[in-house]
Amino acid sequence: MKAFSYVDAANEKDALASLGTERNQVLAIGGGMDLLGMMKDYLVQPVRLVNVKRLDATIARTPDGGLRIGSAVRLIDLIEHADARRMYPALVELAEQVGTPQIRNAGTVGGNLNQRPRCWYFRNEEFHCLKKGGATCFSVNGENQFHAIFGEGPCHIVHPSNLAVACLAYGATFRLAGPSGAREVEAEQYFQMPDHNLYAENVLQPNELLTHVTLPAPMAGLKSAAYEVRFKQAHDWPLAFATAALVMEGQTVKSARIVMGAVAPVPWRANEAERALAGKTLSEETAGRAALAAVQGAQPMSRNAYKVRVARTAVTRAILKAGGMKVV
Ligand SMILES: Cc1cc2nc3c(=O)[nH]c(=O)nc-3n(C[C@H](O)[C@H](O)[C@H](O)COP(=O)(O)OP(=O)(O)OC[C@H]3O[C@@H](n4cnc5c(N)ncnc54)[C@H](O)[C@@H]3O)c2cc1C
Ligand code: SF4
Repeated sequence: MKAFSYVDAANEKDALASLGTERNQVLAIGGGMDLLGMMKDYLVQPVRLVNVKRLDATIARTPDGGLRIGSAVRLIDLIEHADARRMYPALVELAEQVGTPQIRNAGTVGGNLNQRPRCWYFRNEEFHCLKKGGATCFSVNGENQFHAIFGEGPCHIVHPSNLAVACLAYGATFRLAGPSGAREVEAEQYFQMPDHNLYAENVLQPNELLTHVTLPAPMAGLKSAAYEVRFKQAHDWPLAFATAALVMEGQTVKSARIVMGAVAPVPWRANEAERALAGKTLSEETAGRAALAAVQGAQPMSRNAYKVRVARTAVTRAILKAGGMKVV
């Protein structure tokens, strides 16, 4: 690993003062669960790391009855937070599924949302792919079993963050702090497709930090759940997963937000599924129809057509689970 300096920032102001403007030269470090691996594999060689674990690490109620989560909150703290579990069960369930107990004990909310993609070509220093400034996306004619089934490239990663998917489903807002102040960005606008920016997965600038996630108060009748499909129960990322946030009136879905994970370079909102559910009585049949609509536009690669079926199943089951129905 290349030598680097380390700033143990006491607070947000200190941390911001230590960042730079050139991408990957000065990097924030939370639990280091992703970043240290990237450094050991020579994928990034920062000259300086800035510890951001002393930024806000609290979970607090907002005046409107929502929750404000500091970026330094560890996944385990989120999992053990009674209000978070009661108000946003899908977010907590997805945090519970991340990696291993050790990773959840060290990993932070800010680090989870900003972790880099797991594409094996990206993670291997021998492959100078498009995302690293090269000329080729090796996944197109290569091993693309775990790659995207939505989005048109030119890079076909799937976004690696569990929490990001739940944040979109609950309509979260992110606070980003930078040298000229703070800005609020909706979770849906935070994550970026590769045709907008190949080299980063979100709008965060090198001299900015993600400091808070704000979740709005749950609407009356909100019922939500997540459903993950994994290759096996191990410390690996899911093949595909979905979060369903349904506003219910009795057994009728008044409105829905359905977001899929591990299927596209960003958390993928299934607008067609949401439309298919709105105004319908919740049943296995309506959930199944919505799930079919969710994958209608999928464009699988040469080796991942199976993911279409997996994503469809995840959406069906997330909807049924949110509605308190039996998931078979
Ligand atoms: C074996 C394994 C399995 C895993 N499985 C899953 C999984 O199933 N689902 C899932 O979602 N994740 C999974 N992860 C990823 C894990 O959740 C993340 O690596 C962890 O949450 C990152 O948190 P961290 O604080 O350690 O981040 P770090 O490694 O410290 O940072 C990650 C990235 O975020 C940036 N960053 C950190 N904090 C901030 C901030 N406040 N503002 C801006 N940028 C910031 C860093 O610069 C770095 O680029 C897995 C990881 C491993 C090793
Ligand atoms: S999918 Fe993206 S990260 Fe992976 S090889 Fe292609 S360009 Fe690189």
